[in-house]
Amino acid sequence: MQLNSLGFPRIGRLRELKFALEKYWRGEIEQSQLLEVSKGLRQTHWQWQADAGVNLLPVGDFAFYDQVLTLSATLGAIPERHRSDSGIDLDTLFRVGRGRAPTGNDAPAAEMTKFFNTNYHYIVPELSAHQVFDIAYEQLFDEVSEAQNLGHQAKPVILGPVSFLYLSKAVGTEFDKLSLLPQLIEAYQKVLQRFADQGVEWVQLDEPILALELESDWQAAITQAYQILASSSPKLLLASYYGSIAHHHQLVSALPVAGLHLDLVTAPEQLADFVATLDPEQILSVGVINGRNVWAAELDQIASQLTSVARDLKQRLWLSPSCSLLHSPVDLEVETELAPALKLQLSFAKQKLTELNKLKVLLTEANSAEAHSIVSECEARRDARAKAANQAVIDRVDALTEQEYQRDDAFSVRQAVQRAKYRLPLLPTTTIGSFPQTPAIRGLRSRWRKGELSLEQYNEQLRQVTQDTVERQLKLDIDVLVHGEAERNDMVEYFGEQLEGVGFTQFGWVQSYGSRCVKPPLIYGDVSRPTAMTIDWAEFAQSLTEKPVKGMLTGPVTILHWSFAREDISRELIATQIGLAIRDEVVDLQNAGIGIIQIDEPAFREGLPLKKSDWQHYLDWAVNAFKLSAAGVTNATQIHTHMCYSEFNETIAAIAAMDADVITIETSRSRMELLNAFEDFNYPNEIGPGVYDIHSPNTPTVDEIVSLMQKAASKVPVEQLWINPDCGLKTRTWDEVEPALVNLVEATKILRRQLS
Ligand code: GLN
Ligand code: ZN
Repeated sequence: MQLNSLGFPRIGRLRELKFALEKYWRGEIEQSQLLEVSKGLRQTHWQWQADAGVNLLPVGDFAFYDQVLTLSATLGAIPERHRSDSGIDLDTLFRVGRGRAPTGNDAPAAEMTKFFNTNYHYIVPELSAHQVFDIAYEQLFDEVSEAQNLGHQAKPVILGPVSFLYLSKAVGTEFDKLSLLPQLIEAYQKVLQRFADQGVEWVQLDEPILALELESDWQAAITQAYQILASSSPKLLLASYYGSIAHHHQLVSALPVAGLHLDLVTAPEQLADFVATLDPEQILSVGVINGRNVWAAELDQIASQLTSVARDLKQRLWLSPSCSLLHSPVDLEVETELAPALKLQLSFAKQKLTELNKLKVLLTEANSAEAHSIVSECEARRDARAKAANQAVIDRVDALTEQEYQRDDAFSVRQAVQRAKYRLPLLPTTTIGSFPQTPAIRGLRSRWRKGELSLEQYNEQLRQVTQDTVERQLKLDIDVLVHGEAERNDMVEYFGEQLEGVGFTQFGWVQSYGSRCVKPPLIYGDVSRPTAMTIDWAEFAQSLTEKPVKGMLTGPVTILHWSFAREDISRELIATQIGLAIRDEVVDLQNAGIGIIQIDEPAFREGLPLKKSDWQHYLDWAVNAFKLSAAGVTNATQIHTHMCYSEFNETIAAIAAMDADVITIETSRSRMELLNAFEDFNYPNEIGPGVYDIHSPNTPTVDEIVSLMQKAASKVPVEQLWINPDCGLKTRTWDEVEPALVNLVEATKILRRQLS
């Protein structure tokens, strides 16, 4: 029984790679120093894996910017605009990823998008109709030699050709991406041959698209690719992850690959089918340790599920994490401030390797003293968890009634009540919540965190910022104000810190893209809200003006999606608990005199499962969690929601079911095209289609805004429309925001004359 690692995080347990990259980009260190840091990280990470008993060490999981980009470079698929005379080198990669490099030749960065349903973003390969593939970058081969020179058995890990093609984008003249498959397979053959020449025994080719419901031509591409590739010399481990591939069972089991990896964390039920059809020589790598979450595995339970397979397959069974550990924080050992009861429940990338080893002990020496102590550890952990349950929260969820998910009356009734109460003009103007997080504000926060400012001093300064933000909005003549969110570092962290059942790490960073990392909260227990979270700031801001100031909250689905959530209860149930906590806050805001409350759900769409056939179930519970958070108020309280995208074609029914009185969305970049979903659906509630692309430093002109809103009014009745930016303004400067909002208000006045 071998232990297999699909990939280790490269960022470093103290984010060493991030800091070295950023120093290099700023010109503070030489490239040789960056290379030194990266070499040290690879060496450490391989050593950790080897020390844990991992036999097959991944090479190719390290990347300076993104592993998909490294592969594009290896295959010579780098956009013309980023190339330089000296061929493809490290700076070329930075130009593709960032649009610039420390050394000249700037050009717009390549597109970046989320890798399947993870929070990792890859650089989208750009392929043209006449794309030529050829080995053009040596990093992967160099790293294989590097690992071998350190005495390791290197197993190169790269994205397989069909997923690579699927994730890429066709540029230039229109063409069918699959027409490039034959050339791409040839290029992969060359890559595999190079590995073979280096003495590599196993190569892991990742085909995560297998978890999707693929069209028949893509299924055929898989067959074609692997029939050809499997005939070359290194053995191929075909890896799937992020979901079940049982729907492609026939296709996959017919492939002549030497090994197959299955994600049994997301889809344990697919094991039996694949075991049944395994070839007599084929290896099965079982992904049983969750590569995407932070909780210690239930090793005793996993072992009992694997017992018979382990007996049957013997040496042909490999134990593995479900997917690359890229999505997991690096090392729990560096956490010094975690509550012991929480720390006990956790396992980060380095600890997950040890879990593989413990699992092997349970499977091969079940009666040893070591095995017994592993089982006791698992039991102790479950006991601790059971004892920590918050019975009040559990009872409250159990007692929920249908009625608690519904507002008192239908939208049309509420709309009339709200119109009478707020008397807003036609096309009311508002913003999405945050105003510029200036260096001064960030400085305040860091001084307070370091203890250089007392909480009282910090709050006093923030009150001044908030007052200034309100005054500026009054001067701009915006109708529905916001307090500006100056006190919030992050829209999830701010709430997570105040919710019970949610914890934080010091170093639990996970790479999001390039050098960017996020540190998601840990939802470890039953979630509740012990005390009000936002009332003071909302009341303070509202006290400064007669105009309505929106209360600003993050919704349950977004808090769940942007956290590491516990796995002993369903995501639906966690969302329900968070929904109740937010509901308490919504009701308190209403009681404090805040009549308009926004519950942001920017991650609502991200939560959609990989398979379309699973969508409806997700949408049902996600909509319910939102409704639960929103429905505790009277008809007069106006509930807004915000989503920073506008692809609603397939989810519009669910969006309507959320029944927010007003939804604000991003529409400026698509020139209102994406409002069509609302038009076709006859969306009944009010909508604020964004007219200001806040991702750009450019100021939208009055004319542009007028024409955008005229377009919007041709799709949605004008009485239903609001005018607002696409998203929060925290990343912009006041110098950019103020003129943009001046134009927004000016345009609104013109539109009111035209359209009323
Ligand atoms: N209210 C938040 C803000 O304005 C919304 C952010 C978001 O949609 N991501 O910053
Ligand atoms: Zn947004």
